[in-house]
Amino acid sequence: MRRAGLLVWGAQQVAASMIAPGVTTGAIDQAVEVFFMERGAEPLFKGVPGKVPFPAVSCISVNDQVVHGVPGPRVLLAGDVVSFDTGCRVNGWCGDAAITFPVGEIEPRVAELLDCTSGVLALAIELMAVRNRWSEVATEMATYVRDRGFSVVENFVGHGIGRNMHEDPQVPNFCSPQFRRSHDFELAPGLVIAVEPMVNMGTKRVRLLSDHWTQATVDGLPSAHFEHTIAMTENGPEILTAAPRKGETDADLIG
Ligand code: MG
Repeated sequence: MRRAGLLVWGAQQVAASMIAPGVTTGAIDQAVEVFFMERGAEPLFKGVPGKVPFPAVSCISVNDQVVHGVPGPRVLLAGDVVSFDTGCRVNGWCGDAAITFPVGEIEPRVAELLDCTSGVLALAIELMAVRNRWSEVATEMATYVRDRGFSVVENFVGHGIGRNMHEDPQVPNFCSPQFRRSHDFELAPGLVIAVEPMVNMGTKRVRLLSDHWTQATVDGLPSAHFEHTIAMTENGPEILTAAPRKGETDADLIG
């Protein structure tokens, strides 16, 4: 799974290198598709069934778009924030990660939203090392976001990941009594989950756009999304979609 995770990280670098005013989201997606193809990685997002099959290898969601944004002719502008989410399968194993990029200078409160969302993902990973059950982590995630004056999206959650991108369990970024009662799980070695907080500046409520995929905030305020694929090991959580570490060579990435 680390191979797949490294390639997802590599795809993020492709996107990062292109993010600029004047670039279309479709051009970013095409470059990422080439990156996966050249490395023999199977993109996981393209063709995902829905009212229309998902048409691209990445979800690119701009500003008030929360998740599942469809790449296309939209031109990025200075001050935008761009959530880039993609996944691939390599040798039968999957990786999935997301990151929100600023385009040029962004408003200070929007920068705080991005910091809060990447911060709550980092917090979750830290807590996975010291808590026993996901409900404990999720409760602290929701508090972290609320304390900063933002809201956690509840309509979309993280997931187990392995041979397939979406496996059990569901991994919410908040805790409800119902979750604690019926869906909680232990943070035991062998578990691999995609943790993916989506945080909105205003209301947590989202709506589906007419393209049948893109989810946007109901109030039109911006949203941010950060995700890592994380394995629980005997030595604690390991981020499988992190940047190459010491000892991991370019060959691991290029295959
Ligand atoms: Mg995911």
